Parts: sequence; C-alpha cells; structure tokens
Amino acid sequence: MLKGVSASPNIAIGKAFVYEKELKFKRRTIDEKEVETELKRLDDVIEKSKKELDKLRDEAVKKIGDKEAKIFEAHMLMLQDPALITEAKNKIRSRVNAEAAVDEVVKKFIAMFERMEDQYMKERAIDVQDVGERLIKNLLGQEFKSLADLDKRTIVIADSLTPSDTINIDKSKVIGFATNMGGVTSHVAIIAREYGIPAVVGLGDVTKKVKTGDLVIVDGGCGTVIIKPDQETINRYKDQMLELEHRRKELEKLKDLPAETFDGVRIEIAANLGSPDEVANALANGAEGVGLLRTEFLYQGRRSLPTEEEQFEAYKTIARKMGERPVIVRTLDIGGDKPPSYLDMPKELNPFLGWRAIRISLDRTDIFKTQLRAILRASQYGNLKIMFPMISSVEEVRKSKKILEDVKKELKNEKVPFKENVEIGIMVEVPSAAVIADAFAREVDFFSIGTNDLTQYTLAVDRTNERVTYLFNELHPAVLHLIKNVIDAAHSKGIWTGMCGEMAGKPIATPILLGLGLDEFSMSSMSIPEVKKIIRSIKISDARELAKEALNAATTNDVYKLSRKFLTKIK
Ligand code: PEP
Ligand code: MG
Repeated sequence: MLKGVSASPNIAIGKAFVYEKELKFKRRTIDEKEVETELKRLDDVIEKSKKELDKLRDEAVKKIGDKEAKIFEAHMLMLQDPALITEAKNKIRSRVNAEAAVDEVVKKFIAMFERMEDQYMKERAIDVQDVGERLIKNLLGQEFKSLADLDKRTIVIADSLTPSDTINIDKSKVIGFATNMGGVTSHVAIIAREYGIPAVVGLGDVTKKVKTGDLVIVDGGCGTVIIKPDQETINRYKDQMLELEHRRKELEKLKDLPAETFDGVRIEIAANLGSPDEVANALANGAEGVGLLRTEFLYQGRRSLPTEEEQFEAYKTIARKMGERPVIVRTLDIGGDKPPSYLDMPKELNPFLGWRAIRISLDRTDIFKTQLRAILRASQYGNLKIMFPMISSVEEVRKSKKILEDVKKELKNEKVPFKENVEIGIMVEVPSAAVIADAFAREVDFFSIGTNDLTQYTLAVDRTNERVTYLFNELHPAVLHLIKNVIDAAHSKGIWTGMCGEMAGKPIATPILLGLGLDEFSMSSMSIPEVKKIIRSIKISDARELAKEALNAATTNDVYKLSRKFLTKIK
C-alpha cells in the first residue's frame, strides 16, 4: 500500500495503465558484427511505425476530420526522410545502438527546428519528437499506447499529468488516477474532481511499483493506492463502494432544493468547469450556474492558437446549455509552467511568479482580443460574465477593461451582435489584490476568490509540490483574514463575492465561509450536494460567531478544531 495525497474522493478498482513519458535505454557501443542487426532492427521498426501511422490516420479521418489527420501524414513523410533516416543509419554504422542513434539524430533535428524563425517550422519540432518517440518505443518493444487510446475502466498511473496530457484522455474510460507528483490543487487533481474520478497524487514512486495490467485500488478519500490486492481486500473495498454509492444517492435528493441556510439566507452554488462536456454533470448535481469556466481547454493539447470561431462555438454551446444561469468565463490562464509550444516562451525559473494569465493576455493583445470577441459574441446566447485571472494591480484591470471596450467598438463597427452590459469581474488570487480589495471593488462588478493561488502566494507554498503539501492549507488564519477583507470590501462597495478556489467545495470550510459572508460558492460538480446539505443545516448567526472565533485563532489547527466541532453539532 502506498500513501499519497488525497486528491479526489471515492474508490476505484481496476487494471492499471502506466503512462511512461520517459523512454529508458542506454547508449551503447556495438560490435562490428552487430551493425547489420541494428540496421535491420531500425528498418523493421520504420515499417512497423508506418503501419501504425496509417491506421491512426484512418481513425483520425473518421473521428476528427481531414485536417488533424494530416499530422499523421506528416509523420509518415518524416519516416521516409533520407536526412533523418540516413543520418541515423550512419550513426549505427559508426557503432552506436539503434535507440541511441535515433535519439541523437532526433534531438539534433528538434534543436534545428526550434531555432527557426518561422513559427510554423518551429512547431514541427513536436512532430519530429513524436516520430522519434514512436521509433524508439518500437525499438524497445514498448507498446506505443497513448492516453487517447485507453481500454475501458482503466486506472491511469503516471509521474505527472500535464494539462495537455489530460486533454487527450478519454475520461469516460478512466476510473482512477494515481501520480508520483502533485498536490491537492495540481491540475490532475482538479480535473479528477471535476469528472468525479477518484485520484491520489504525490505518491512518490507509484510508476515504479505498478506495471501496466496490474490490478490496483485507488482510495481517493484516504489517499492510498493498493497494488495487487488480495480477494479479502477487494471485497472490503467493494463494500465501501456500495456504502459511498448509497450516500451519493441520499445527497442526490437535495439536487433541486435551493442552497439556503436553515434561517433562509440564500446562497448561490455554482460549478467549476474545464470544458463544455462537463455541463451535464454540473446540472445533474444541482449547479445554479458556472462560477468558473477555465478556458484553457481551448488552448491546450494542440499545435496552434484556437480561432475566434472555434472559441465562439465552445462558449455558445455552454451559454445555451446553461440558459439563464450565469456562466463566468475566465480569460486565458495559461501558466508559465506548461506553456503550449506555440506560445514561444523561454523557460522560467519561477513560472508561478512569471509570465502567466492576464500578463500574457496584456502582452499578446492579439490573443486576448480574439478571446474577448468570441466571448462577447457568445454572450447573446445566455448569461455570460467575463473574469480576468491573476490580477495583481488596478492598472491591469483598467488596461483589460480598455481592451474590452476597444473590442466592443470593433464589433459595433462590424455590426456584429453582442450583449452590451456583460458583467466584469476579477479573480482575487494574488495577496496584493486581496489586501487592497477596496480599490478593486470600484473597478468591477464582482470578485471571485481563487484560494488555490491565493493560498500558495500567501503562504509561499508551491501548490504543485508534494513535499510542502503539508503547509498548503486554506484554513490558515492569514488566508482567512484576506478572504474577510475581500468580502467586506466588496460588500461595502455594493458588489458580490464568490469563491472558485478548491476551498469553496470543502465541507470543513463551508460554515466559516458562510459566516464571513461569501455570496457564491463555486466548486467541482461532485462537491455540490454535500456543501449544499451543510449550508441548509446552518443558522447564519451561528456561522458568523464561528467565523469571528476562527479569525481570532492563531493556528490552522485551531481553525480546524473550531470548524469540526461546529459541524459535529449540526449533524
Ligand atoms: C485558484 O487559483 O483558486 C483558481 C480557481 O484558479 P486555478 O486553480 O485555475 O489557478
Ligand atoms: Mg488561479
């Protein structure tokens, strides 16, 4: 049994698929007589790879269309490219094993493409990398299986999963995640909660201990992974699964009841969404709106920027499906840690403090304007609001609003219809914004507190680093004071405040947040029923008392104790 960080609750029992990005082989000097064998190996895998690509191309034509299928044709051409193949063969002739020969030539080509001025040519580096990986995997006899092509009911085991990895995963086939790296607010954890998939992260070396095909149990609630369990353990977990299912059904009954305190204070409960296909799940769990639409799904796992039209269609779909319910569209929040290749940016030493979110949008106004045009155009089809991420200064809000006004003027001149009075908000997730929330409240229509980043920046704890996960806690009194400041500033200026950080979906935090006066709670869909149940059993005056006591606490642990005691009483 391995112990990690509980990232998304519930239990999964199934076969593992170990997603290995790294190819393990050594460079070897071969004997003269091995040269022919190595050359033959390379020829064989080139043929094998061509066949695989042929198949993939046919599938892509069926599933996605001609345009995407062209990528595989390009890969096939590379396999016939004399420059690449001849060079690899020459390396083998100079007595290097086939894996290392391909690797070295591919690396040289990647570097060459990356140095090119032309953006299109630069992006070809990824294709060379893909082709190289395919050849080496085939040489090693590893199955070239991608995340897009999983068996049913798979538990995905990986070192880490980046946004571009998860975008490729067919979530209907995944029943669990377990990763070496990551904390509670790492990307895979958020995705897992949004899809209701059990997940444990920060396991250290699960990829070394599990092999593809092994039976594993992922206990997302306890943060454990059990490898090759015996029948008795399986039976015990199956019983627990039944119990959890029973509880879920009980909570489901609350779905259509309002999120209203015991004494009638109405709160709004919304869902955080990462893509249009999550809308149904949000509505099924009783979401009254979307408090955070992470638009990154449009930008990740692809080779070029999404067009205005593509974005418009996606926003329109969500707006339509949600009807009158509000949908807060957050503008691009791509981080410096995993930038897509088409955003040509150098590696940063501190990506979380670097070029991300609104900073990118304000530098690359072409990207920003395209997105704003798409959101505004889609605004006609529902109740969309716009939210800017990672705001740290009032100037950034003013600049963003000015660009939005320019975009509106352009649309008007072009006689393109859109809704004039779309509300504008900011995420309060940088301590500077929380401290002078007063000044920001004059600039916008609403706030949404992003506790994932607010906590990491306030406590100086990298939210993705499992070694310091024990320090990451939104119930730290310093974070609570900042939250109070934001809510009070908003209310004194007559605007409302929501929260879309993970804290909003944590039952332990619900009574304190209610007591602090939070107006809207936005969370992963699966957390909605439980949080609603708690809200419905609380008297607001009691919650206010609790919040006062929590603000006076000196340690996170004291806050926990207070909240736990409170929750035990209402149960
Ligand atoms: C946050 O920081 O709390 C938030 C909701 O944004 P993200 O997790 O996408 O950074
Ligand atoms: Mg954030």
